[in-house]
Amino acid sequence: MMNQRQDWPTDGLESVPACPVCGSTSRALLYEELTDIVFGTAPGRWTLYRCIQCEAAYLDPRPTPSSIGLAYAHYYTHTTEDSPEGRPKSPLVRLLHGWVNDHFNARYGLTRTPASWGGRWLIPLVPFFFAKSRAKMRHLTPPLPGGGRLLDVGFGNGSFLKIASEMGWRAEGIDFDAKAVEVARARDLNVSCTSVSELAARPCNESYDVITLSHVIEHVHDPIALLHDLYRLLKPGGRLWLETPNINSLGAVRFKKYWRGLEVPRHLVLFSPSSLQTSLMNAGFKQIEQHWHGMAALSMYSESGALAHRQDTQEASRQIIPSIAAIIDEVREMMQPSRREFLTFSARK
Ligand SMILES: [Zn+2]
Ligand SMILES: [Zn+2]
Repeated sequence: MMNQRQDWPTDGLESVPACPVCGSTSRALLYEELTDIVFGTAPGRWTLYRCIQCEAAYLDPRPTPSSIGLAYAHYYTHTTEDSPEGRPKSPLVRLLHGWVNDHFNARYGLTRTPASWGGRWLIPLVPFFFAKSRAKMRHLTPPLPGGGRLLDVGFGNGSFLKIASEMGWRAEGIDFDAKAVEVARARDLNVSCTSVSELAARPCNESYDVITLSHVIEHVHDPIALLHDLYRLLKPGGRLWLETPNINSLGAVRFKKYWRGLEVPRHLVLFSPSSLQTSLMNAGFKQIEQHWHGMAALSMYSESGALAHRQDTQEASRQIIPSIAAIIDEVREMMQPSRREFLTFSARK
């Protein structure tokens, strides 16, 4: 493991004089002296600015595209676990996953395991569980008869590709991480090591019915170019779904430089609700809808609290009883879309 106080190589840094979202140069200092407290593996100390114009936050300086690989040496996609972080689950979380699987099986005709008895009735009755299960499905429904083509950008461990193909989608994934591609291929998933811009540059590229990006856009050097390329890749009427941490969330305000969503230096840009909505509109998207990722405050507060106390995040995320503040803010975020931990949006071409 690399010492986090080591400097990022100077020739691997680039300055970011203007906001990567709206291009404005007016900004305020948000936090300085940030380090990789999440994985503790990436070198460097980082400064985060807040754009006065659009409220997005961004690193300046930031790693160059050719040096950013240094930040991913021990990243969590290199696991085949169904848990995105690849960590052991508590008994309560395992039971919840079993209920969600039973609910999915009943609702979408899937055969997911392990399925716990009663989930099909219980999940729709509890708003937090139901919202969480819809978010896990990325608010997707099965394709029309004849099927449909789905692209997952930055598929991570491939668990969503598996769900989507079980639902009947012809699901494909792309990732810049060659190791993640290798692991997913071994699981018989249809994946390739390429980028959105390479796909969009090919002829006959209006080919996808659905494109999803879960916690990807904040890792990208040019998120606006990405949105334009995604628009190009969709069929007319096709649907984009994306999720990214919300810099205006209750958790970001409460935990400040220890908020789990900052994740420097892998997160280059952190959107606010209006900056993401405006960027989607400017790229041509219509019918923009915000969704609720239930139980996000519970998990983000648990992990951010652990970071704040410089404890082990894996230990804290196994807590069965979350803090009272997390429960209160979970309810507030249900009612206040602009303060949710994650910006979960869908839109149509
Ligand atoms: Zn801006
Ligand atoms: Zn991320």
